[in-house]
Amino acid sequence: MAAKKLYDSFSKSLLEEVQRWGSMKQTGVSLRYMLEFGSRFTDRNLILAAQFLHKELPIRIARRAIELQSLPYGLSQKPAILKVRDWYLDSFRDLRSFPDIKDKNDEQDFTKMINLIKVRHNNVVPTMALGVQQLKKDLDPKLDCKDLDDIHQFLDRFYMSRIGIRMLIGQHVAMHDPNPPPDRIGYIHAKMSPVEVARNASEDARSVCLREYGSAPEVNVYGDPDFTFPYVPNHLHLMVFELVKNSLRAVEERFMDSDKIAPPIRIIVADGLEDVTIKACWVSDEGGGIPRSGLPRIFTYLYSTAKNPLDEQADLGTADVATMAGYGFGLPISRLYARYFGGDLQIISMEGYEEDNSESFIAGTDAYLHLSRLGDSQEPLP
Ligand code: ADP
Ligand code: MG
Repeated sequence: MAAKKLYDSFSKSLLEEVQRWGSMKQTGVSLRYMLEFGSRFTDRNLILAAQFLHKELPIRIARRAIELQSLPYGLSQKPAILKVRDWYLDSFRDLRSFPDIKDKNDEQDFTKMINLIKVRHNNVVPTMALGVQQLKKDLDPKLDCKDLDDIHQFLDRFYMSRIGIRMLIGQHVAMHDPNPPPDRIGYIHAKMSPVEVARNASEDARSVCLREYGSAPEVNVYGDPDFTFPYVPNHLHLMVFELVKNSLRAVEERFMDSDKIAPPIRIIVADGLEDVTIKACWVSDEGGGIPRSGLPRIFTYLYSTAKNPLDEQADLGTADVATMAGYGFGLPISRLYARYFGGDLQIISMEGYEEDNSESFIAGTDAYLHLSRLGDSQEPLP
């Protein structure tokens, strides 16, 4: 009933517009292009960029709205998914009802409007997670991961697209900052120090760990702090944060009841020629590794060995992602962030070598985060 009512609140002509825009071709942008364009920012450039977004954003948003309406297993009808779908429709309508951008004033109004769109979509990830969890509960437990493959593919496309949309909006909005920090071009830091970002992200992960477990293993970051390259610090922060949380949890759970001191997690930042390879969580995390049975599923959105935090949060609005674990979203989303700029994330795990008396070797997990340094790759456009 509720679903029907929500649907009716959007006119037929709006839904037809969504169909029409959703079939138009999307245009990708590379990191290098964003850097070059953003470093020559003049009023004229800002107007050009706004005109591009005025056309591009409704195309991307319409595609997602259409997909949100046609998910398998009744996922589209889950209240949380309907809510997300409505955010997309509202944003599509805001963009399409905005008049042509002709001058600086239009551009400024447009920038305010897209910034509000970005805020409207802030909680998409936990809300989608809730919808997926609702589905997981209803599904026949005999359904295995293969059956859920299309949902996984959809979520990968959906979140990848979201990363791109937020990058484009964030980049545009940030270019209006009257006092940008040095070497900042919108979201991009022209001289980002991966060692520094990794240190900050590790500390953030440790404080979540401290809060939940009452203690947190050490994290040592190795590498040259003066080594820099252009990248988006927020993205790197998010990836390292997720990887370190996983390692901290594994080490905590393994050493919680032991009288041994928890071994530190190691992060090694290496400067490659084409790639910056951050062996984040070369987590020789010595946390016991990932069971072989779980390994093929760690990059799926439904797999987590932690208790689902949503079970304790009945209210949809309060979903809080800054928990240690339990959504099963950390790895797949981190991999999308890496891939967005042409990088990748791999996990190698040595499972359960239980010879505890051999001090020299304890099983653990290595995460390899490859970040593309040149940034020439085009945006992936699902
Ligand atoms: P979450 O942490 O919310 O469970 P993730 O996608 O981050 O979701 O990880 C999925 C699962 O993969 C975890 O629940 C855990 O079982 C396993 N995992 C990930 N990283 C590690 C690690 N470093 N050591 C052991 N298990 C891990
Ligand atoms: Mg995690």
